[in-house]
Amino acid sequence: TQQFPLPDATRIFTVSNQKGGVGKTTTTVNLAAALAHGGARVLVIDLDPQGNASTALGVDHQAEVASIYDVIVDEAPIADTVQRSPESETLWCVPATIHLAGAEIELVSLVAREQRLRTALDQYLSSLEEPYHYVFIDCPPSLGLLTINAFVAAQEVLIPIQTEYYALEGLSQLLRNIELIERHLNPNLRVSTILLTMFDGRTNLSNQVAADVREHFGDQVLGAVIPRSVRVSEAPSYGQSVVSYDVNSSGSLSYLEAAAEIAARGAKH
Ligand code: ADP
Ligand code: MG
Repeated sequence: TQQFPLPDATRIFTVSNQKGGVGKTTTTVNLAAALAHGGARVLVIDLDPQGNASTALGVDHQAEVASIYDVIVDEAPIADTVQRSPESETLWCVPATIHLAGAEIELVSLVAREQRLRTALDQYLSSLEEPYHYVFIDCPPSLGLLTINAFVAAQEVLIPIQTEYYALEGLSQLLRNIELIERHLNPNLRVSTILLTMFDGRTNLSNQVAADVREHFGDQVLGAVIPRSVRVSEAPSYGQSVVSYDVNSSGSLSYLEAAAEIAARGAKH
């Protein structure tokens, strides 16, 4: 695969949308894999109790495995939880286990409850001899404390938008929350990237939604669009990204194109 330009400093993305099933995890896993295959060192943090990103990246996440739960609730060092993904020599994952399902409630009574991921990640990143080029945090479909922890730890928000009728519904609430985080908890946060997913070019509806999103968000929207593709949905059941599973499929090519755009944008500043 193609080599991408590498950023000077680690870029930390949170992949967020309070809707479920819009392609957050699929996007996290495939962009991370595409960038890793293109020469970048990439860390995926699975912050969804469902652990779908952990599964797709082929890392252990049974209940007894050291996970992001231990980091956030018990202040375990991230270094003790990182596993390398069989997908690539330069792709790692902090898994989520079932314990994370309780974290949303446990966090409420903990000190600095919004900053726990940030503190752990800062500590981990500054301890590394070889830095990561990218960190991607895969969020659960809610705007609770786990997602807030992701917003506080990140610099960039990537919002996947499914090109369907209800796509823009609820988005203003997400943007308002991001603005609140920016004002009170993380002044460096910005929505850098919007990615249209599950696009079906044969339907007027997909085209209309894509046009609306581009009109509303302009340059934030990547030129690459992810088509609805069976290959994309099959890949995780083989423990692979679509890039390894079928590199020349439309889904793989579009994720590689999106990764190239993200890399090119990051090389500019
Ligand atoms: P989220 O993390 O936002 O809940 P997922 O990434 O898990 O969403 O995607 C939801 C479902 O849609 C999954 O079954 C996934 O395999 C499927 N899916 C995601 N992107 C595509 C695509 N481009 N083409 C076909 N199916 C997709
Ligand atoms: Mg998900």
